[in-house]
Amino acid sequence: AYIITEPCLDIKDRACVEVCPVDCIYEGERFLYIHPDECVDCSACEPVCPVEAIYPDDQLPAELAEYAGINADFFTAV
Ligand code: SF4
Repeated sequence: AYIITEPCLDIKDRACVEVCPVDCIYEGERFLYIHPDECVDCSACEPVCPVEAIYPDDQLPAELAEYAGINADFFTAV
């Protein structure tokens, strides 16, 4: 799945939401989040993000690795 990371904080541009073919990007209070099970790895969102916050989970820079869990946790929190 693709992962939204730190640069999205309080930006939430939503360009990614516009292009996602499966509508798997959801808005939280301070970030947008990609649902890890719904994402089909099409990569459409990555180049349109104006702050380059989106990475494939297997190419996450080490300092942003925690965001894989942060995105997943958003959908399991009740
Ligand atoms: Fe949506 Fe494709 Fe981005 Fe996954 S990679 S979040 S399916 S636009």
